[in-house]
Parts: sequence; structure tokens; C-alpha cells
Amino acid sequence: MLPAKKTSKTRTKSRRSHQALKALNLSVCKKCASPKLSHAACATCGYVNSKITLKIAKSEENA
Ligand SMILES: [Zn+2]
Repeated sequence: MLPAKKTSKTRTKSRRSHQALKALNLSVCKKCASPKLSHAACATCGYVNSKITLKIAKSEENA
């Protein structure tokens, strides 16, 4: 079945008015002060909290 009526520009645009992306809520790394996602390891230095620091592989960066 096809839709009975063509969707109007207003109906399409008002539906899409809720689809905009919001900016990421970044926090600052306590160790290296670079922006990081909260509740996640820092991408720059791997710091999570005072007990946990992950090792960051350096081979991912293109030389
Ligand atoms: Zn860091």
C-alpha cells in the first residue's frame, strides 16, 4: 500500500525539528587537562581515576 496522502513540507520539517544533534558533554581530564568523555578513559593519557590508568597504543596515529 502506498501512503494515502503526500506528507506536507510542514509535517516533514516539524517531525525533523527534534532530530538535531546535541554537543557532547565533555569533561576535563584531571591528569593532562585535555577534554574527555565523563565515565570513560581519557583518549590522550588513558587516565580513568586515581586507581586505574589504561595503556594507550601509540601506533594508531598516522605518522
Ligand atoms: Zn588525560
